Amino acid sequence: MKTDILIIGGGIIGVSTAYVLAKAGADVTLVEKGEISSGASYGNAGYIVPCHSNPIPAAGVLTQGLKWLLDPESPFYIRPTFSPDLLRWLWQFQKYCNAKAYWRAIPLIHDMQRESLSLFREWIAAEKIESYFRENGGLTIYKDARAFDAVCKEVEELRAYGIHFDILDTKALQALEPLIRDEVIGGIGCETDAYIDPALFVRALAEKAVQHGAHILTKTAVLGFEKNGNEIKSIKTTQGKLDVNQVLLAAGAWSTKLAKELGIDLLMQPAKGYSITLTNPSALPSRYLFLGKSKVAVTPMGEKLRYAGTLELDGYDLSINKRRLGALRKAGDTYLHKIDGEENPEIWAGLRPVSPDGLPYIGRSARVSNLVIATGHAMLGIAMGPFTAQLAAEILLQQMPSFNLSPFKPERFC
Ligand SMILES: Cc1cc2nc3c(=O)[nH]c(=O)nc-3n(C[C@H](O)[C@H](O)[C@H](O)COP(=O)(O)OP(=O)(O)OC[C@H]3O[C@@H](n4cnc5c(N)ncnc54)[C@H](O)[C@@H]3O)c2cc1C
Repeated sequence: MKTDILIIGGGIIGVSTAYVLAKAGADVTLVEKGEISSGASYGNAGYIVPCHSNPIPAAGVLTQGLKWLLDPESPFYIRPTFSPDLLRWLWQFQKYCNAKAYWRAIPLIHDMQRESLSLFREWIAAEKIESYFRENGGLTIYKDARAFDAVCKEVEELRAYGIHFDILDTKALQALEPLIRDEVIGGIGCETDAYIDPALFVRALAEKAVQHGAHILTKTAVLGFEKNGNEIKSIKTTQGKLDVNQVLLAAGAWSTKLAKELGIDLLMQPAKGYSITLTNPSALPSRYLFLGKSKVAVTPMGEKLRYAGTLELDGYDLSINKRRLGALRKAGDTYLHKIDGEENPEIWAGLRPVSPDGLPYIGRSARVSNLVIATGHAMLGIAMGPFTAQLAAEILLQQMPSFNLSPFKPERFC
């Protein structure tokens, strides 16, 4: 079997690129080892939040992270292990935990999200996709005075980058969202943010991509590559061999393993997070809520309510730490009036693909000439997904990319 463009990975990045390419009339095939949207793009918080464009590395993050290691319910954990890959990643990561790198990344992530938000709007309207996409913004709320003061200062600095928040006291917050408890001392609101049910969106978009002519092969895992010089000739999969002209690597956290097969050192760590989804909660907030210091996202998705959070560096292990999982709803009950749900809500764990500088990898490989890479979107892969897809498609179609991709070079840590 032969295809012009082969996409590896059926998450938001791979599916959105298949959609853009199929619409442009390209001969495109996507292979996914499981079902569409069964990786990180399934149970995440669904935020599309240009107002929250902070990269993970920031001044003080490492000190805070070390303190959190001692707390079994903290939102952050690193399994103590001697892994040369983890140590190398941490070594690079600490180089970006400073104000200069942080403020350099914010406008890039902000632009990627803003462009994606317009594409979400456009695609959802054009294809009539029902995925509970809502653009009525959200509130980030605080019980802790120091954390609230720090965020208020940052809000002032963000104005210079064109990012605007409203600073709100308890009464103003409760007027917008009556579920907020009196213990919350203040918060920030951003009316231009949005949220979505990510799996509904990605699965519906995959169907549309097929209608536009894309081929999608699920339960088809890529096992390796056959090369001719510095070009991939064919892909070995669990369902046989596929000859290709070009390849897009969009396998999320697993991209590092596949890149290694091609001799590319794509420095990333899988960062595990959890979610709990209630099907018929006793109450639903009217917009997304982010529980500031606890770092828990609470998102209404139609009749469902999702709590999502935690970041664990624990390799590719997807097992669930019950204590940290429980901390998500426990935090919810301290910021919000109690929300009841069914006895056995849907529990999920997923792996974010995280680069050391908090920026994605988007671009053509310098080492393998017919390979394009699009991954490493960390906490914001849904939010940056559609525009990443447009950029990846432009590269694959030999067009001039409509965004400066030099900060996203895939081999920048090689
Ligand atoms: C708890 C949590 C909350 C989050 N909240 C948000 C949020 O609110 N907003 C936001 O923007 N982002 C959020 N994220 C991050 C977001 O989920 C990811 O950045 C995004 O889903 C990554 O998409 P992807 O397509 O790169 O990877 P994935 O969705 O992981 O897709 C990669 C796919 O590749 C497939 N694959 C892997 N190896 C192979 C192989 N060998 N052969 C074939 N297929 C293969 C996998 O099965 C998988 O389906 C959150 C993540 C977590 C864990």
